[in-house]
Amino acid sequence: MSDKSQPNPATATAPKTADELCLLTCALRERVKELDCLYGFSHIVENAAGSLEYILVETVKLLRSAWEYPDITCARIVVHEDEFTTDNYSMSPWIQRAPLHVYGEHVGDVEVYYLEERPQRHEGPFHAEERKLLDAIAERLGHTVERFEGESLLREKEHELRERLTHLSRVSTMGEMASNIAHEVNQPLTAIGTYAQACQRLVECDAISSQEIFDVLTRITDEALRAGGIIHRLKDLARKRDSARVQCDLNDLIRSVEQLAAVDTRLHDTQLHLVLSRSLPPVLADGIQIQQVILNLIRNGVDAMDGTDLALKEVVVRTVRRRKGEVEVSVSDNGCGLPETAGEELFTPFFTTKEAGIGVGLSISRSIIDAHGGRMWFSRNPDRGTTFFFSIPILPEVSNDAA
Ligand code: ADP
Repeated sequence: MSDKSQPNPATATAPKTADELCLLTCALRERVKELDCLYGFSHIVENAAGSLEYILVETVKLLRSAWEYPDITCARIVVHEDEFTTDNYSMSPWIQRAPLHVYGEHVGDVEVYYLEERPQRHEGPFHAEERKLLDAIAERLGHTVERFEGESLLREKEHELRERLTHLSRVSTMGEMASNIAHEVNQPLTAIGTYAQACQRLVECDAISSQEIFDVLTRITDEALRAGGIIHRLKDLARKRDSARVQCDLNDLIRSVEQLAAVDTRLHDTQLHLVLSRSLPPVLADGIQIQQVILNLIRNGVDAMDGTDLALKEVVVRTVRRRKGEVEVSVSDNGCGLPETAGEELFTPFFTTKEAGIGVGLSISRSIIDAHGGRMWFSRNPDRGTTFFFSIPILPEVSNDAA
């Protein structure tokens, strides 16, 4: 580092003595070190690949080399609760410190220490230029932390919004199905009432054996369980909760969505067939979200056949294991089909061709599948109707076992 008393190489007249030349060379060497430090910092930020920790770890190392006595220099960066130090870090009385500000708030410091005493300069043993360099690094670091924190907040908010929209879409599906579901739950309740009344009458006339009473009570229990099952599935689907991925069997998820989907298929005179592979490996998934996707695809299939005069209206849900380490689910219908021109716009939010449609089902379904590391697509059936597919990767240890 140069001494403040030394001539400025940019403005000085031609040096006359060898001593002056030597001093100027030293001063220039220090300026180059400072520039290298700033250049090095930009380079670190460029190569950080989204890691703030990388930037802080590398910057603290860089500081050490830029001061006049690198051999006795150590450095520390403190940001919030985190601390990053050079290997040789130790506190000493010879410290130069610059505050780190993030959104105007003092959140930490950038510090350089000398581990041994050195001659007095502008600020203790440190040069005025070193102060400027430290301030410049602290300012740039502050901006960098701001950018990272801003981006991470944005990602968090985006995630939160997507989760809320997913939940809203599920609740709106429930709303659309409400009257059908009420009808579905009403059936077992009516059956329970009828069985109980009949039983009462027979008991009054003493015309029923205890075995017959037992049989009626068994039927009542079955119907109550059926109604309870529907309500339980509904409650699960409507619940607002953070997405949670666990090991799941897609066949089980499909079977448990079948009861809710059947509410629609029965009312629309449609058959629902499940063709489920017997050797389906587990996947890591949020069961409720995957059920939401399947329910949405089945309901779209039912809608596509509504108003057609088909003798057999049928939705088929298939599962199959694919070689690429994926499990594939397909939902086929023999409905009206898609126009030749229909493409990726089906998956864009608010695209709908239905009078009462909202047009978010497919876009949310695809974002759920994307978040599971899978894919979603469709194809036109050779005869008529459409098939929508999605795939989810098999749990890694399972796919390795199979390989
Ligand atoms: P919505 O059902 O509210 O319209 P979706 O995002 O689920 O929203 O579907 C978007 C559009 O994709 C539908 O309006 C329809 O035009 C088309 N579509 C989806 N599934 C099918 C299908 N199985 N057959 C024909 N068209 C379909």
